[in-house]
Amino acid sequence: MNRRRRIYEGKAKILYEGPEPGTLIQHFKDDATAFNNKKHDIIDGKGVLNNRISEFVFEHLNRLGVPTHFIRRVNMREQLVREVEIVPLEVIVRNVAAGSLCTRLGLEEGTQLPRSIIEFCYKKDELGDPLVAEEHITAFGWANPQELDDIMALTIRINDFLSGMFAAVGIRLVDFKIEFGRLWEGDMMRIVLADEISPDSCRLWDMSTGDKMDKDRFRKDLGGMIEAYQEVARRLGILNESERPVTDGPRLVK
Ligand code: UDP
Repeated sequence: MNRRRRIYEGKAKILYEGPEPGTLIQHFKDDATAFNNKKHDIIDGKGVLNNRISEFVFEHLNRLGVPTHFIRRVNMREQLVREVEIVPLEVIVRNVAAGSLCTRLGLEEGTQLPRSIIEFCYKKDELGDPLVAEEHITAFGWANPQELDDIMALTIRINDFLSGMFAAVGIRLVDFKIEFGRLWEGDMMRIVLADEISPDSCRLWDMSTGDKMDKDRFRKDLGGMIEAYQEVARRLGILNESERPVTDGPRLVK
């Protein structure tokens, strides 16, 4: 059996050493977790869908000139990516009020925000990824002011692209989380988009019914998670006829 060196194992992904120096294999697992690992389940087929959806998004971003770690998908569950030094921040973009923003500020879920809001959380599981300000980020050196500028500028472009991409297929991009890394090319360093963009890391609502098509189906025990992820993939044109499940089609459970 092929014994690859495992570099890192997270909740939903594993990183293995890649075929060449400076590359890694990003493997998507079927594990679903929520509430900082307190809730855990295996959702058959989720990893395959997230791999395909994330590939689709990262390819488009690469083509638009948004630098990412993505090189290519290598199989159903894995993609070849560039090795980066992850900036220890979760960058959250919100277009519509949901989740922790509603709890924190007493907003009603679904309230359109006056403009898109970017938030930062410090990536530290033991602390539950606390919300932090730019001041903390630069004072503690998690990113310098130039890097933070690059992160903000890229984040705005990514939100614009994703909002349009999902709107075109009848999906409202409520919010999402992204991560960035430092890519070293000789002495030069650039900030690039890393990790994944999938229904695990976005809130996606059907524009006409308001149905949730993302990980909230798992968080809130709504059922029909895989069908919802399949529907996202199908609308984006990722699943072709032969790959559709042999049923009478995906159905969202209310
Ligand atoms: N998110 C994520 N990973 C996290 C925390 C949040 O992917 O560890 C995503 C989440 O799916 C949502 C957005 O970031 O699309 C905003 O999440 P929020 O802060 O509302 O936290 P939650 O309500 O999910 O705890």
